[in-house]
Amino acid sequence: MNKTLSRNLIARSKCSLCQSSNLEDYIQFPEIPVVKCNDCKFKFSSKILSEHDLKAYYEDNFGSNRHLQGQIVNSKVNLIALETLLDITKIDSLLDVGTGYGLLLEKLVKRYSKIKVSGVELSREESTYACEVLHQNVINTTFSYRTFIRKDLI
Ligand SMILES: [Zn+2]
Repeated sequence: MNKTLSRNLIARSKCSLCQSSNLEDYIQFPEIPVVKCNDCKFKFSSKILSEHDLKAYYEDNFGSNRHLQGQIVNSKVNLIALETLLDITKIDSLLDVGTGYGLLLEKLVKRYSKIKVSGVELSREESTYACEVLHQNVINTTFSYRTFIRKDLI
């Protein structure tokens, strides 16, 4: 069994962004259903690991050369996706939740010098790399409403 799914999942009854309880089912994945907030349109998993289990899973020994290699590919694909979906020249700031090694942030800053980018990453190794090697604004924490409203992030 998947290590993540063998842990206890906690139901989320409020939107992670706006705290609304006005949610509807969006995708009925069997283990982790996705819901949509009818107020701000944010889509998110309605069940998550507890903060303790998340930290235990990501915090120590999560990063690896294999992850780094995968994220090199993902950052290229994600940049293309963002450029396809959005007019990035009209965006002032961007928060990358689960930014990993911060590779997408680095690409965005190089290509769009006016955009202010920040990241949140729970893996200590990956967030340290993003900060110390790539000099990106990344904090080592879980994403939550408290994180989102921090003035130093966006
Ligand atoms: Zn919302």
